[in-house]
Amino acid sequence: MSNWWDPHPHEGYSGIEKIDSGHPWFETYKVHDWLYCIYEGGIFDEPVMYLVIGEDRACVIDGGSGIGRLDKLVEKLTDKPYVLLLTHTHNDHIGGCKHFDDIWVYDDWMSWERAAKGYSKAKMHEIIEEGYVIKEYPPGFIVDDYGAGPFTVTHWYKDGDIVDLGKRKLEIIHTPGHSSNSVCLIDREGRHLYTGDHYYTGGVSTYLPGGNHDDFIESSEKLVRMMGDYDFLMPAHHQPLVEKEEMVVMRDAAVAIKEGRAESWTERMAIADDYNKPVRRYPFKRFSLTTNVKV
Ligand SMILES: [Zn+2]
Repeated sequence: MSNWWDPHPHEGYSGIEKIDSGHPWFETYKVHDWLYCIYEGGIFDEPVMYLVIGEDRACVIDGGSGIGRLDKLVEKLTDKPYVLLLTHTHNDHIGGCKHFDDIWVYDDWMSWERAAKGYSKAKMHEIIEEGYVIKEYPPGFIVDDYGAGPFTVTHWYKDGDIVDLGKRKLEIIHTPGHSSNSVCLIDREGRHLYTGDHYYTGGVSTYLPGGNHDDFIESSEKLVRMMGDYDFLMPAHHQPLVEKEEMVVMRDAAVAIKEGRAESWTERMAIADDYNKPVRRYPFKRFSLTTNVKV
């Protein structure tokens, strides 16, 4: 069995400029002068966040683990006011909320519950489990204090809402499946689709709380239909700038599993929340898709 950090190729970083941001916990890449990719390598599932800068304000897409000070890094990269927009509320996306004042979340029950309760320390500590962190923590980080309390949502967004940053617009596309409150964001001018956890080159899943495989298929169909409006996928894990054709591969994979045509899988216990639940992990070329046994 290989290490968790081995199987993920990172060719998405090869054509973009890595910059020294002075925050070694994050690797920072400049995609354009209005777009940065912030990579939290060295921890399990390698969260990727994005900073999209408009003329009036900026948008940080996802909060990551909350181990490093994402807010401080953002303030180095832009002097515009900024909002933190979550693609959903699983623990590896809301960790940074404690450092942000202006937080935008999709308006549904999963989000309401998470904003009200945060996560238990135990749930957050799943991210930093033994063997899941392979680099030094940033100064000031105290393992025993690591958690994610309730947070105040300043804006509840809905499907079709436009986030207007000033000469740069992001449109919200509700894409349930990975979770009920999952969204993608499309920048039609930049031709990027920010996919959250609906697509990334790693272990994607539909079995986690709030997940639903049928919804995942339907959302994939919706994203495939929109392919004329974007060129690259900007996933929330591992690497940016994945060719858009991968969305078709993901849709086909999800449908094949549903129809019992996926040829191979390994069965194991869920690695989060309900550890007694068996799940099936189906390998595909650039990602795996893990589902409930019955979909
Ligand atoms: Zn995630």
